[in-house]
Amino acid sequence: MRAIVFDDIETLAVREVPDARVEAPGDAVVRVTATAICGSDLHFYHGKAPLSPGDTLGHEAVGVIEEAGPDVKRFHRGDRVVVAFNIVCGNCWFCLHQENALCEEFRNLGAGPFGGDLGGCQAELVRVPYADTNLLALPSEIEDERALFVGDALTTGYYGAAIAGIRSGDTVAVVGAGPVGFFCIQAAMAFDPEIVLAIDLEPDRLALAEKMGAVAVNPRERSPQMAVSERTGGRGADVVIEAVGTPSAYETAIDVVRRGGAVSVLGMFVTESIEIPMGVYWARALRLTFAGLCPVHAWWQRSLEAVRSGAIDPIPIISHRLPLSRAPEGYALFDARQATKVVLYP
Ligand SMILES: [Zn+2]
Ligand SMILES: [Zn+2]
Repeated sequence: MRAIVFDDIETLAVREVPDARVEAPGDAVVRVTATAICGSDLHFYHGKAPLSPGDTLGHEAVGVIEEAGPDVKRFHRGDRVVVAFNIVCGNCWFCLHQENALCEEFRNLGAGPFGGDLGGCQAELVRVPYADTNLLALPSEIEDERALFVGDALTTGYYGAAIAGIRSGDTVAVVGAGPVGFFCIQAAMAFDPEIVLAIDLEPDRLALAEKMGAVAVNPRERSPQMAVSERTGGRGADVVIEAVGTPSAYETAIDVVRRGGAVSVLGMFVTESIEIPMGVYWARALRLTFAGLCPVHAWWQRSLEAVRSGAIDPIPIISHRLPLSRAPEGYALFDARQATKVVLYP
């Protein structure tokens, strides 16, 4: 099969690798019909998260079951499915309590040794362990491109909005209008906020956020704190969702939240650290939530329903559709922020 292979930092190739196959009785092999490049793939691309030469990448995919192991009960050859970006056991305490991202056997597709050495899904075939848990059946009326992000970015945004505690009439600020922020903005609308402000440095991303009904704020043009303050009688936002995963985005979130407001930290942090003025946070009575990785299995039925009903429309975020053979170009475009989201067709 052909797959995207990591050769070296910022050097990817598309070439033949051994076919993915059923290795354990609960595995399924999925023939990928569409796959996408995720922001977290760029950590591997840049070598911030380690891959060895020859490792394959990718963790967002839809496809059709090619082969199912003897223990797979819910799926059969030919079924259309969405793949979960995180691979969990479905059976430990955390999985049984809807906290799947904290699974005792947590693994990631296409994430090299840290992800449990599973192959990636930017490939013609992908092996999915515990297939009954890690695949979601796809109704025939939902096309591939509308379902593709349900296994990761879309459901992460949906989860971020759902856990932020948005109430009717709230002022909501979303820091970061990349793919996760884009889905977060759409999901936030379902909670009937007064207004959603989208804060980002990229004009293309802000234009998309505006299309989804948000008010765009570009910190290069005006201070986010001023922009939010103006619309809230000087108070600040009731709820802020940090959807970037950098110290400066986090600081912006703290700057724009009101006293007694909630900040949900959804962006992915790895080794960053900052000093926190405990007294200031305490006096401001801030409510902080660290989202962690999205427990996608606990939320993807609901987010898929939001797609089916039209409450979330993923199509506008797709800027590029490329054959798998042009994946290296897709990575370069996405990395240079010349693409908002790249879909690859094997
Ligand atoms: Zn991802
Ligand atoms: Zn588990």
